[in-house]
Amino acid sequence: MKFDLVIIGAGPAGLTASIYAKRAGLTACVIEAEMPGGKLIKTYEIENYPGVKKMAGVDLANTMFEQASSFGVEFVFQAVTEIKKGEKEHTVIVQDGTEITGGAILIATGTKERLLNIPGEQEYSGKGVSYCAVCDGFFYKDKVVTVIGGGNSAVEEAHYLTQFAKEVRIVIRRDVFRAEQRSQDALLERENVTVVKKHIPVSIQGEDGKVSSITLKNVETGEETVYQTDGIFPYIGSDPITTFCKNLDILDEHGYVKVNENMETSVPGIYAAGDVISKYLRQVVTACNDGAIAAQQIYHYLKG
Ligand code: NAP
Repeated sequence: MKFDLVIIGAGPAGLTASIYAKRAGLTACVIEAEMPGGKLIKTYEIENYPGVKKMAGVDLANTMFEQASSFGVEFVFQAVTEIKKGEKEHTVIVQDGTEITGGAILIATGTKERLLNIPGEQEYSGKGVSYCAVCDGFFYKDKVVTVIGGGNSAVEEAHYLTQFAKEVRIVIRRDVFRAEQRSQDALLERENVTVVKKHIPVSIQGEDGKVSSITLKNVETGEETVYQTDGIFPYIGSDPITTFCKNLDILDEHGYVKVNENMETSVPGIYAAGDVISKYLRQVVTACNDGAIAAQQIYHYLKG
């Protein structure tokens, strides 16, 4: 398989780049390991993407996917295992061994949820521990859930859970949230929310094969308290998905891809865009911005 542009990742950055590439007359393929939409499909609601007042994340993801498909973008649903650097072209290897060659490659793989890495987390994953409130929230109707983290994701997804759960407990390790004020205010207005400040989770316990409680430790006193809970939703940030390109020497010390303002890496013909790059603001709108810039630069690169 051979294309002008091979895009790895079908989130907002990758899909935007694919639309711009097709409109510029390039052949383009998008490789995606899961479902199109990236983090959008796990996001309850988007209300800060201009032009869309309020939309479920999954609906915005589908709209972007349909738009890209309507321009004739080809999709390959496989995980990428490696990028082989070439002279004029580069080759992407996917899980079943297929080689997909591109005049340019765009890495737009985004990030993956960080794990708590505490006893009980793995054992009860899918049995009360969930990393997707939108996917699993409904199962906690009239139950008690515990959300870990104080960033935008934790606060927004905790807010989403308040419509099902009897009680939503949100645990933050400092005495302030990291999330935007507007999101904090919206969450704290809900009657069924409690906040546990200055605590971190230390272990998860279960009964009859599912989560029954979580032990939290006070970060100042070290005192541990067991809280009954039916569900646990960790939202403690994320890490870049870049293991497949470690060989290229394009990553920073945290594993994000280093790019310049044109989304170029240090390897000619290899670009990166969206949450996977080293940058300050990770939003749908900034991912789209990166994707558009990358596609435009790639067009000029390929056309010499
Ligand atoms: P984040 O902003 O990095 O927040 C992570 C949260 O988890 C922080 O409150 C952090 O505490 C806490 N935390 C980290 N490690 C922990 C640990 N081991 N134990 C307990 N707590 C821990 O991550 P995010 O919320 O996933 O957001 C990622 C990016 O996407 C951000 O740039 C965010 O702004 C963006 N985003 C934007 C929106 C939106 O604009 N609507 C929605 C979702 C995400 P500390 O605060 O103490 O460090």
